[in-house]
Amino acid sequence: MLYGSIELGGTNCNCAVGLQDGTIVKKVQFPTEAPDITVRKIVSFFQENQAAAIGIGCFGPVNVDENSSDYGMLLDTPKKAWVHYPFLKQLLHALNIPIRLHTDVTVSGLGEMSLSDKKGIVLYVTIGTGVGGGIILNHEVPGSPNHAEMGHVTLQRVAGDDMESACPFHSNCFEGLASGTAIQKRWKQKGNNLPPDHPAWEMEADYIAQGLCQFIYTLAPAQIIIGGGVMKQKNLLPMIHQKVNEKLGGYYFYDELQNIEELIILPRHGEDSALVGGLLMSRQIGLM
Ligand code: ZN
Repeated sequence: MLYGSIELGGTNCNCAVGLQDGTIVKKVQFPTEAPDITVRKIVSFFQENQAAAIGIGCFGPVNVDENSSDYGMLLDTPKKAWVHYPFLKQLLHALNIPIRLHTDVTVSGLGEMSLSDKKGIVLYVTIGTGVGGGIILNHEVPGSPNHAEMGHVTLQRVAGDDMESACPFHSNCFEGLASGTAIQKRWKQKGNNLPPDHPAWEMEADYIAQGLCQFIYTLAPAQIIIGGGVMKQKNLLPMIHQKVNEKLGGYYFYDELQNIEELIILPRHGEDSALVGGLLMSRQIGLM
């Protein structure tokens, strides 16, 4: 029997069926449109590709409390058509199989754990259209009724950066200053059009390093996996390593900080982390 996986992102929706170990057998991608259209396409995929259970990584904010009657409902998201849409309920109603849901970043983190032996806290951070972070504890999704919104921690502006924040809520948050949306707003072009030696990347690395240092100090993660479209700029990761080291200032208060290149890495599943994580999560449904 195959298991199912859904990654509902703000731009695209990915569906897959695969094995219990996270191996993807078949996957499709389509744009995330209005909720009813998107759900119809998801349902049609799983009617043609039967799954015993499904794990979902969903953009947030979303209700992740399995004991709530609103479990799996989108909350106050900038995607207006999805605000208060009962995504999970609609799928449960149409497919009638066990389904679990968490944030896309958390499920991506779970997917990455299939290739990791790290214990304790591991973070998955995405720097894309938005910025978000998911927390994995001892290879599992923590059973908290709430999820973190790590993309909204406050950062200190780099001198001379007076761009208006890309976050509608905060003038100096991680997402508002470092997301792909912020890069485009600040430099009047998309990040993937900016050459590797453009000053944008030095500033970007500084903001990302500031955010990661806050997570390091508050959570002491054994590993931080950093994905999202902005990280496709190949020079960025080494710059982030350097800046994190500088900002830590030699204060290596746990062992993993001695080797920043090993602490902060790119996703080993590439763009499939969330789909792999969804398969792993679906496998766990029967055990709960
Ligand atoms: Zn914000």
